[in-house]
Amino acid sequence: MPESYIDTYYRRSMADHPAYPTLSASHQVDVCVVGGGLAGLSTATECLQRGLKVALLERHRIAWGASGRNGGFVTAGYATGHAQIARRTGEAGAKALHDLSVEGVRIVRENIDRLDLARVNPTPGILRAIRYDDAAGLQAEVAEAKRKFGATLHYLSRESVQEKLKSKAYFQGLYSPDAFHFHPLNYALGLGAAVAQKGGLIFEQSPATAIARKAGGFTVTAAGGKIEAGHVVLCSGGYTDRLSPALHRAYLPIATYMLLTEPIADIARAINTPAAVADDRRAGDYYRVVDGNRILWGGCITTRTADPANLAEIMRRRIVDTYPQLRDLKVAAAWSGLMSYARHLMPQIGRTPEGLWHATGFGGHGMNTTTIAGRVVAEAIAGESDRIKLYAPFGLDWNGGPFGRIAVQATYWYLQAMDAWREKGAHKPHARP
Ligand SMILES: Cc1cc2nc3c(=O)[nH]c(=O)nc-3n(C[C@H](O)[C@H](O)[C@H](O)COP(=O)(O)OP(=O)(O)OC[C@H]3O[C@@H](n4cnc5c(N)ncnc54)[C@H](O)[C@@H]3O)c2cc1C
Repeated sequence: MPESYIDTYYRRSMADHPAYPTLSASHQVDVCVVGGGLAGLSTATECLQRGLKVALLERHRIAWGASGRNGGFVTAGYATGHAQIARRTGEAGAKALHDLSVEGVRIVRENIDRLDLARVNPTPGILRAIRYDDAAGLQAEVAEAKRKFGATLHYLSRESVQEKLKSKAYFQGLYSPDAFHFHPLNYALGLGAAVAQKGGLIFEQSPATAIARKAGGFTVTAAGGKIEAGHVVLCSGGYTDRLSPALHRAYLPIATYMLLTEPIADIARAINTPAAVADDRRAGDYYRVVDGNRILWGGCITTRTADPANLAEIMRRRIVDTYPQLRDLKVAAAWSGLMSYARHLMPQIGRTPEGLWHATGFGGHGMNTTTIAGRVVAEAIAGESDRIKLYAPFGLDWNGGPFGRIAVQATYWYLQAMDAWREKGAHKPHARP
C-alpha cells in the first residue's frame, strides 16, 4: 500500500498520478538522485535531457516534503538579499547568481508549457505590501530593480493596495508581473511522470541508507536493493539525514506553517486580487485565494520541528489580525513543512568532501532555486558548463550545532521585534529601522 501524503490543500486537489515501486533489485545508472522533491526531480529531468541514465530514491512519496506543501510562489531571487550575496561574491558574482535565479523561474514556466502539466494553474502576479508608510522607499526600489537587473516592478499607492487588500495593516506595495503562483504538488507530480516516461527510474518509500565509494562511482543502498552509479546527487532538503556527514552538519531544518480556510462568502470584502500577496516582514505572511473562495495562508518560522498542538489557531489568528472582517472563518486544514537553511542563507550546490554532488539549502525560496540547481548540477556532471562554481562561495559552512538553532531562533525573535517596532512607527515616513 503506498503511503499517503499529509493533509494539505494540495493533496485535496491533486492531479491523477502513478505511485512508484519501492526499490527491490540492483540497478546500474549514471546518476543516482536521493530525494524526490523539486531539487531531485529537476536534477533528474535535466540529467535525462543530457542523455544520462537516472535513478531517483525517495523516502516517502514524490514531493512529500516541502516541495508538495509550500506557498507556491515562484519569484526570482534567493532567501537572502543581493547585498548579502555580493558581500561574498562581489557585485558581478551576485548579478550572475541573480540571473540564474531568473532562469530558474523561466524553466518552471517552460516545463509547465512543454510538458502540458495538468492542474498546475500558473497565475501571474505577486503583490508585496508593506505595513508602514514608505512610498519613497518603494519607488526607489522600482528604479533600482530596473537599473540593476532590468526587472519590472509596478509601484502601488496606498489607495491601490487598499482596493485589493481591504486591511488597515497595509500601506503601499509593489506588484511583480513576472512572478507567478501555482500548484507545486501537481507540478512536481507532472515532472515525476515525465522523468518516468523518459526512462528515469523512480522508487518511492525507498530511503537511501548508506553510500559507499567503489571504483568509478558509488553504491547507494536502500532497504530493498542497491543503485550502482557514477554520480550521486543529494537533494534531501530539510529532511537531510546523516547519509553525508558533511551535508548533515551544514544545514538547519526550519519549520514553517500553512493554513487553508473553508470557503468564505464574498471573499473580495477582504482579498480582491488574483495575485499572490506577501508582506515584507522578515518572516511575514504570504497568502493567496484558491478555488475562488478559500485562502491559503502561510507564515511563521521556527526551529521547533514538531508541530505545535495549536498550529491551526496560531495561523487563524494571523489572518484575523490582518482581516478582522474574517473573524468567523473556519479552518479546513493546517500543516507545516521543513525547509533547509544554511547559515549563509544561500543554496548549497556543489560537491561534498566525500565526492557527492549536493543541491540543498533552498530555504523559503525554493521554487526557482531548486530548478536552476538541477540544471547547473546536470551541466557539471555532463561536463557541459561550470556554472555551478558561481555557488562555490556558499559552501557547507558548519551550522553551529545546537548553538546554531538557538542563534536562529534568537535572530527570528529579534527580527520580529524589529518588524513590530517599524510598524509602531507606521505613520512616520521612512520608518525603516
Ligand atoms: C510551508 C512552506 C511554504 C513555502 N513556500 C514557498 C513558496 O511559496 N515559494 C518558494 O519558492 N519556496 C517556498 N518554500 C520553500 C520550498 O518549498 C523549498 O525550498 C523546496 O521545496 C525545497 O525542495 P527540496 O527538493 O530541496 O526539498 P523537499 O521538497 O523537502 O524534498 C526533499 C525530499 O528528500 C527526501 N529524503 C530525505 N532523505 C532521504 C533519503 N535518505 N533517502 C531518500 N529520500 C530522502 C524527503 O523525503 C523529501 O521528500 C516553502 C516551504 C515550506 C515548508
